[in-house]
Amino acid sequence: MSKYDLHSHSTRSDGLLSPQALVERAAARGVTVLALTDHDDTGGLRDASACAAAMGMRLVNGVEVSVTWGDQTVHVVGLHVDPNHPALAGGLARVRSGRRRRAEDMAAGLAQAGIPGTLEGASAYVTNPAFVGRAHFARYLAKCGYARDIGAVFRRYLTAGRPGYVPHQWASLDEAVDWIVASGGIAVLAHPGRYPLGNVQREELLGRFRDLGGKAIEVVTGSHTAVQHVTWGRYAQRFGLLASVGSDFHGPGESLRDLGSLPPLPDGCRPVWELF
Ligand code: AMP
Ligand code: MN
Ligand code: MN
Ligand code: MN
Repeated sequence: MSKYDLHSHSTRSDGLLSPQALVERAAARGVTVLALTDHDDTGGLRDASACAAAMGMRLVNGVEVSVTWGDQTVHVVGLHVDPNHPALAGGLARVRSGRRRRAEDMAAGLAQAGIPGTLEGASAYVTNPAFVGRAHFARYLAKCGYARDIGAVFRRYLTAGRPGYVPHQWASLDEAVDWIVASGGIAVLAHPGRYPLGNVQREELLGRFRDLGGKAIEVVTGSHTAVQHVTWGRYAQRFGLLASVGSDFHGPGESLRDLGSLPPLPDGCRPVWELF
């Protein structure tokens, strides 16, 4: 029996485990097909593939692209992408290039709120010099005791309207899907239940994503409740989209769901791996 986990992070973006350690943990937990989907960066795939091959596990080349849709940030996962494809590689490089300046602005906002030195603090948690994100700030702020845990740090400091939040222009939805598809990949809308959208906007996003060439949505993810697994399974069927499964694992003790620990897709969903 295959066990799929099609969304995970390594130290190449904001995960806590190296690509190799991530693959080893997934294999030990019974995952047979793992996608490494670091944010806006495919640099961990080579080591992950080599390690997976040595362990007899299948590694899917993935990426999670940061997207600005209207005034929302949404994430699009690419599965089976070609990391060397120029459109994808160039697009991701552009998306990554804004992160340093954004981090400086985040630190300035936090300093204004009376918390100095957060860029230096967050940098101690950065594991890829080209990638600094909110998770690195959150780990530092939580360690300093500015809030009870990472989730509370996000709510208090790092979400829209809070002092460490800086609105940012990521890729457009069209670009993200285009880059993924151009490189031979499958575009999957990540954790749709996480976006604060009304019903009309939800349907607009799903329709637009499908019309652009998106093939699947994450139905079962570490970000969804059991009720949302059912809700988003129905959305997938209604919109003729395939369904994906991914833990969105970032690290032991930090993520709600460990690698390979998700329930099966709800009845009636067609799995995205029909396309593999
Ligand atoms: P960024 O791309 O820099 O905006 O960071 C987004 C990342 O922050 C997500 O992929 C998660 O790793 C983390 N994140 C966002 N919201 C939360 C939250 N409420 N609790 C914990 N981690 C979060
Ligand atoms: Mn992350
Ligand atoms: Mn995400
Ligand atoms: Mn993710």
